Amino acid sequence: MVKSSKILDLPQGLAGEFLFNEPLSGHTSFRIGGPAEMLAIPYGEHSLAELLVKIKRQKLNYYVLGNGSNLLAEDRGYKGVVIKIARGFKNLSRDKNRLTVDSGYSLPALVDYCAREGLSGMEWAVGIPGSLGGALVMNAGAYGGQMADSVKKVWGLTPEGKKLKLSPKQIDFSYRQANYPKGFVITGAELELKPGRRSSIKKAMALYLSKRKKNQPLTLPSAGCIFKNPPGDSAKRLIAVAGMKGQKLGGAAVSVKHANFIVNQGGAKAAEVLALIKKIQSQAYQRLGIRLIPEVKILGK
Ligand SMILES: Cc1cc2nc3c(=O)[nH]c(=O)nc-3n(C[C@H](O)[C@H](O)[C@H](O)COP(=O)(O)OP(=O)(O)OC[C@H]3O[C@@H](n4cnc5c(N)ncnc54)[C@H](O)[C@@H]3O)c2cc1C
Repeated sequence: MVKSSKILDLPQGLAGEFLFNEPLSGHTSFRIGGPAEMLAIPYGEHSLAELLVKIKRQKLNYYVLGNGSNLLAEDRGYKGVVIKIARGFKNLSRDKNRLTVDSGYSLPALVDYCAREGLSGMEWAVGIPGSLGGALVMNAGAYGGQMADSVKKVWGLTPEGKKLKLSPKQIDFSYRQANYPKGFVITGAELELKPGRRSSIKKAMALYLSKRKKNQPLTLPSAGCIFKNPPGDSAKRLIAVAGMKGQKLGGAAVSVKHANFIVNQGGAKAAEVLALIKKIQSQAYQRLGIRLIPEVKILGK
């Protein structure tokens, strides 16, 4: 194994936090994951650009992490640099109905901001524990809304550390999917919202939150829905029909409350979650002829 402190020869004075052999379990909502050789939290775009240049020069692997709420990090950890977009990417500014938002801005904070300012269009995102960057990659969505509905432009850095701006057309958003150039690190976006009554916005948010609390196992660590819904059907329903609801493996379990959630009941390993994912897929295929496609991303491959 590479001696961890030698993994990356950092430029002097690079603003950020650089942690070695950092357990990813502390950076994912699943609370699962082995160590990243290096976890880098660059404080802003300039530091990020320098970091990317260094990584490229030293031919290291990197993986971009937002709030880790759609991720399963493998038990063996990650060989390379995990770049966490957080501190240093938290600005938001407003010009009428348009917001310029950094990618490390929290989605719940963005939803609250819109509600306070009487801007409608993000209500659906209430209760989604991601960052804006993660939501832009996943084209996160719920209750009939999705990120793509509000996006005017997305910008970020290429693996060479060069700035790049993309239009929604270039990103080609679809259901829980978006196409960015390989290795692209999103640093911000322009969103367009509509003026709305604060009371109506808050009412919609309260309704969506109560639905989440009623239907989702929010008291245990998870990564939200594990599979995408097949066209015209719900993965939750299919997993239950395939007889997988409540199935357990070690500390991991298919939630009884919402069968498309796998929850960490305590000390679950990524290997256990992956084995449950495979079992659900094979049961859904054998019993129903349906191929379920994971929505959750795997960090470590
Ligand atoms: C309880 C719960 C409920 C949830 N409900 C929903 C829901 O209703 N709808 C929904 O769509 N999702 C839901 N999710 C999943 C998740 O919260 C969203 O997908 C969220 O948008 C992910 O954001 P993140 O910052 O946590 O991304 P991460 O999990 O950190 O990353 C997700 C992907 O985005 C990439 N990425 C992250 N940031 C950047 C960046 N700045 N630049 C480039 N790539 C980046 C990562 O490499 C990874 O491929 C839920 C999760 C939980 C735990």
